[in-house]
Amino acid sequence: MINKQYRLAARPHGIPKDSDWAFTTEALPEIGTGEVLVRNHYCSLDPAMRGWMNEGRSYIPPVKIGDVMRAGTVGEVMASNSPEFRAGDFALGTLGIQQYGKAAAKDLTKVDPSLAPIEHFLGGLGMPGLTAYFGLTDVGAVKSGDTVLVSGAAGAVGSIVGQIAKIKGARAVGIAGGADKCAYVTEELGFEACVDYKSDRFLDDLKAALQGGIDVYFDNVGGEILDIALARIRRHARIVICGAISQYNNTTPMRGPQNYINLLVHHARMEGFVVFDYLSRYGEGTEKLAAWYSEGKLTFRNHIEDGIENFPGALLKLFSGENNGKLLLKVIETPT
Ligand code: NAP
Repeated sequence: MINKQYRLAARPHGIPKDSDWAFTTEALPEIGTGEVLVRNHYCSLDPAMRGWMNEGRSYIPPVKIGDVMRAGTVGEVMASNSPEFRAGDFALGTLGIQQYGKAAAKDLTKVDPSLAPIEHFLGGLGMPGLTAYFGLTDVGAVKSGDTVLVSGAAGAVGSIVGQIAKIKGARAVGIAGGADKCAYVTEELGFEACVDYKSDRFLDDLKAALQGGIDVYFDNVGGEILDIALARIRRHARIVICGAISQYNNTTPMRGPQNYINLLVHHARMEGFVVFDYLSRYGEGTEKLAAWYSEGKLTFRNHIEDGIENFPGALLKLFSGENNGKLLLKVIETPT
């Protein structure tokens, strides 16, 4: 049995190229005391991976050149030297872009496949869902009657932000790229409105959709859209800086907000966060998300790319907007 992997070969300049990756194969790892061997079924492809490829100080150390690319994973336990896991259990971890990985049992979380398809634990019931939950309820302090604007509204995090806003009695307005994504956001996710930022009518449509102003702006994209949102905030608005995907592949400095003075004018607050800050509250968040999912109040869409060999191209779909929902890479091979 061999283990296929993708390793970081070079630090990208702009959009990652094929030559920034090395495809390698090696024998399955041996496990030591307290360790668990997992056969990954799915790897999570996340915008944050682009940041982890860069040198420099961040909220987590960069992936080293030559290392297996860091990624969230879910898969089946093959062997265990820990009383906490048995072969056949399903485990969530950060085993990277590879078909098999080992970890200390303490670094894995058991998932129950009877609750939901295991891939949902990398999406709506996992890190993106928790990002939406803590970002909106804690950082954004959403309350009933608020107007919540979220960019990247058809994506993994944004799609859940709007649904939670509605659960909390707020009005959800999305921003997404293209008519099809906007139709998904309003018709399937139930947002009150969704505005296509690629349309010539974007500014007028946004103004109409907001019906007055923004109480919470959940920013997934940064750049010009952040400025446009800052121009429309209400008194005591909360701007949640979750991400800035429009800037991640820049080869020039990131665009900062020009309209920041509106924070002063409207007594507003802008605050960034990282979901890992909430590690000690993941239990609470997961319980909430799972309950809403089982009550039919939350729906998730996954976009699954098949085959570990397709990793470099699949990752880029996040930046071209070709993903429709939470982007996952299926790495388990089914016999032909
Ligand atoms: P996603 O929304 O599922 O996928 C990325 C989407 O971003 C694309 O489908 C595309 O949608 C949009 N996009 C790409 N380039 C863009 C551009 N130049 N301008 C505007 N939109 C663009 O990704 P996700 O996993 O949910 O992540 C969303 C954001 O949350 C990212 O910024 C990510 O870094 C951040 N995040 C932060 C945390 C945290 O702890 N703070 C945790 C998870 C994720 P369109 O087709 O609509 O353009």
